[in-house]
Amino acid sequence: MEKDSLEYEVDKLQLDYERICILYGNARLGYFGLFLSVFFLGFIVSRLSSLSIALPWIAVVVVAYIPRLILSKRFKTKLEKKEITPTNIKPWEDYFFINTIIPHVCFAAVVFFPYKEHTYTAVLFCAVVFMSMIAGGSMAYNTSKKFVFLFMNIALLFLVVKCFWMRESIFTALAFYLIVGYGVLTKLILRQNEILLENISLKIESRHQSFIDPLTKLWNRRRLYLLVDKMIELSKRSGDPFSLIMLDIDHFKKYNDSHGHNAGDNLLVKLAELLLDCCREQDLVVRYGGEEFMVVLPNTTIDQAKIIAERIHTTVRKKTDVTISAGLAQYKDQLNFAHMVQQADEALYAAKNKGRDRFTVVVSN
Ligand code: GH3
Ligand code: MG
Ligand code: MG
Repeated sequence: MEKDSLEYEVDKLQLDYERICILYGNARLGYFGLFLSVFFLGFIVSRLSSLSIALPWIAVVVVAYIPRLILSKRFKTKLEKKEITPTNIKPWEDYFFINTIIPHVCFAAVVFFPYKEHTYTAVLFCAVVFMSMIAGGSMAYNTSKKFVFLFMNIALLFLVVKCFWMRESIFTALAFYLIVGYGVLTKLILRQNEILLENISLKIESRHQSFIDPLTKLWNRRRLYLLVDKMIELSKRSGDPFSLIMLDIDHFKKYNDSHGHNAGDNLLVKLAELLLDCCREQDLVVRYGGEEFMVVLPNTTIDQAKIIAERIHTTVRKKTDVTISAGLAQYKDQLNFAHMVQQADEALYAAKNKGRDRFTVVVSN
C-alpha cells in the first residue's frame, strides 16, 4: 500500500482522468447539436447560395468529423475495457483537440461562400447559429480549457473577418459586438471551468475519504472488499497464491483503561504506521474493525506470509508496549474471500486461546 495515502491531495492524474472522461462523454451529445447545425446551415446555404455548394459542404463537414467520431468510439470501447487509466489518458485530450481543428475550419468556412445579394441574411444566419453553437459547445467541452478556446476561436475568427470584410457599418458593429461578447463569454467560461474542476476535485476527495479510516488513515473495510475482488480475479487467472493476516491487539481494553482512550487512539495510529513499514508496496493494509487490522498479501504463499507476520509481531513488541495476536490464511481455488476471512479469524482466536502474543496458521485444502 502506498504510504502517501496517509495524506491525501487530489491527484492531478485523477483530475485529468475525470475531466477528460467528461469531455468525451459530452462530445456524444455535442454531435447531435453539431449535425443539427450543419444540416440547418446547409439548408440556408442551398437557399441563399446554391444546392451545388450546400451539398458538397455538408459532405465535407460530415466526412471531416468522421475521425473524431471514430476517436470517440475508440475512447468509449477502451474505457469500458478499463484500458484507459489516469496514467495514460492525457494524450486523449490532444487527440480530441487535433481531430477537431479540420472539421471546425470546414464548418466555419460557410461564412465565406458566395451569397451575392443574400450576403447580409446569410451572415446573420451564420452569426446566430455560430453563437448558439459556441454557447452550447463551451458548456459541453468546459472541462478542457484549450479545447473550448479552439472551438470558440475558429468559428468566431471566420465570422469576424467576414464582418469586417463587408465594410458595412452594421457588420462592423456586429464584428465588435462579437468580439466583446467573446471576451465576456471567455471570462464566464474560465470561471465555470474553475468551479467544475473544484467540483470534480471534491468528488474525487470525498470518494477517497469514504475508503479511508479517519483515525489511522488506512484503507477501510469497504475499500478492502472492492480491491480484494480484483486480487481474487487475478489470482484465479494466474494461479498465484495470496494470503492474509488478521491481527488484533492483545488486552487493548486494559490498555485503554490504564492509559486512557487518547493513548489508545495514538497506539492504533502507531500500529498502522508499523504495519505499513513491515509490508511491501503491493500489500493491502486495512483497519478491519476497532483494534483489528488485516493485511492482504498478493502473490504470497503462506510461508512467505509467516515471515511477514513474524516481522510484524517482533516490530510491534519492540516498538510499542502491547503485543498482538494474528491468524493467517491462504487463498485456494474455490474458496471465497468471506470464507478465507473466517479461517483467518478462527486462526486468530486460536492464537488468543493459546495465550496471545503469537500467530497461528490455517491452510485450506
Ligand atoms: P483480546 O486480547 O482478547 O483481544 O482483548 P481486548 O481487550 O483487546 O479485546 P476486546 O475486543 O474485548 O476489546 C477491544 C477494545 O478496543 C474495546 C474498545 O474500547 C477498543 N477500541 C476499539 N476501537 C477503538 C478506538 O478507535 N480507539 C480506542 N482507543 N479504543 C478502541
Ligand atoms: Mg484485542
Ligand atoms: Mg478485538
